[in-house]
Amino acid sequence: MPSCTEPAISRRISPFMVVGRVREQERAARAETPAEALDAMLAWLDEDDDAAAVWYLREDWPAPVTLVGRPAPGLIGEVRRTAHLFPLEPGAVLYGSVTARCGAELYLQEIEWLSVGQGMPCECCLALSDTRPRLEGLPR
Ligand SMILES: [Zn+2]
Repeated sequence: MPSCTEPAISRRISPFMVVGRVREQERAARAETPAEALDAMLAWLDEDDDAAAVWYLREDWPAPVTLVGRPAPGLIGEVRRTAHLFPLEPGAVLYGSVTARCGAELYLQEIEWLSVGQGMPCECCLALSDTRPRLEGLPR
C-alpha cells in the first residue's frame, strides 16, 4: 500500500541553533524551543570546562520572534517574577544574558521560558510593545 505521509523529520520545525566548541570539536545542534537550546548549551559547558557555546534564532528565519521569560523559581521573590518580553532578531547570537524590552537583564541560565499568556506580564514590557507577542511559526 503506498504511503503518502512525509517522514517525521521533515516536519520538525527548529527555529533555534546551538553552536559551540566542546573538547576541541565544533558542534552544532537544532532546537525547537529556547529551553531546549539552553539545555544543549549547558550540557556542553558541563561536559568540558573550556567549552564555548552560543545559541541563536536561525538567520534564515523569516521574522523576528518575541520570547516570553521570567526569572527561574527561587532566584527572587515570587511577586517580582513577572514575565518579560524578549525580542529576538534572526541571527542575533545569545550568550550570557538577554535584555528584555523593558530593560531588565536576565542571565540565560536563570530564565524560565514561558508560553504566551503564562505568568504575570511585566507591565513595562507590555507598555513598550507595539504589537502583541509574536510567536507565529514557533512550535507550541
Ligand atoms: Zn519587562
